[in-house]
Amino acid sequence: MPDILPVPKPVATRHALRNVRAFRSALLRWFDQCGADYPWRRTTDPYAILVSEVMLQQTTIGAVIQNRRFERFLEEFPDLRALAGASESELLRSWEGLGYYNRVRNLQKTARTILETHGGVFPVDPPVLESLPGIGRYTAGAVASFAFDHPAPIVEANITRVLSRLFSYREPIDTPGSRSQLWSWAEALLPPCNARAFNSAFMELGQSHCSPRSPHCPQCPVHDFCTTRDPSTLPLKKPRRPTEEVDEHVLFVRKRSGPVLLAREEGSRRKGLWKLPERSHDQLADFPLLATRRYDITHHKVTMRIYRCSLSQLPPASRGTTEEFHCSKALRNLPMPSPFRKALADLL
Ligand code: SF4
Repeated sequence: MPDILPVPKPVATRHALRNVRAFRSALLRWFDQCGADYPWRRTTDPYAILVSEVMLQQTTIGAVIQNRRFERFLEEFPDLRALAGASESELLRSWEGLGYYNRVRNLQKTARTILETHGGVFPVDPPVLESLPGIGRYTAGAVASFAFDHPAPIVEANITRVLSRLFSYREPIDTPGSRSQLWSWAEALLPPCNARAFNSAFMELGQSHCSPRSPHCPQCPVHDFCTTRDPSTLPLKKPRRPTEEVDEHVLFVRKRSGPVLLAREEGSRRKGLWKLPERSHDQLADFPLLATRRYDITHHKVTMRIYRCSLSQLPPASRGTTEEFHCSKALRNLPMPSPFRKALADLL
């Protein structure tokens, strides 16, 4: 049987910046016909759009959609006032499983700042949006364009990939110089009107046709403008920080087979969440090992070892640690990192 050769990438016949109107039309025409229908695209409420952007910062679209995380969050906190008034526990519980809890803390700080400093009215101007807690240039541009159709460019991972391929950019993209180059391309390509559709289309092109490993160039609506010959090698990045293996030694202690001892996380990115109490390996060397679980967090691969311990043998906790017993009913409402929630579900 003859080998099936891959379809070669079409050769660019036009330059996107020198034919910017034709580029915008090609992209918008495609998006008009093929754009996906996400829940956050059915609204222009800046609060809902900010929630979706913050949620999607480190969580995939699939995970957000599948579990209705966006809709559930808005049902619980439908507006700025509801979010601003939430307790820490309600806030963290609503974000459980999404990780990077500082995102939701900053979201609440932003809600409070808009109520207190801006009279409850969402700013439109990207530099003003950028001055709010946890809002960077991308999120400011996304809220301004998606909510208000304001002509603000956006650059995130998908757009970065498309831009680096369109302009055959062979420098590492994660340097200040490259970032500024990408933003200036995004700004030059953005139309003066219709920023909402254009930015959505640009991002979606990166999610669909211009995928990281196997881009579908022959079907791509802007292949005429795309100068790279070898898209799967772009974008270039600086070498990644290596992953570190970490051990975490925790205790499973119950009071008369009932309430479970939990520790409150302090001073870390999981501040305010509850987990099984941690001790050093030396303190737990003689305790029976109950279970082992593995999970990843940022650039760490964590092995959690869970030891059984009776209350009378409990090794002392380090100073400043808050540890309390909680009955299994109350556990449901306590904010908890997912690996601990799953471990406890097995243990109980
Ligand atoms: S899919 Fe990406 S790499 Fe391929 S033609 Fe389109 S923009 Fe260029």
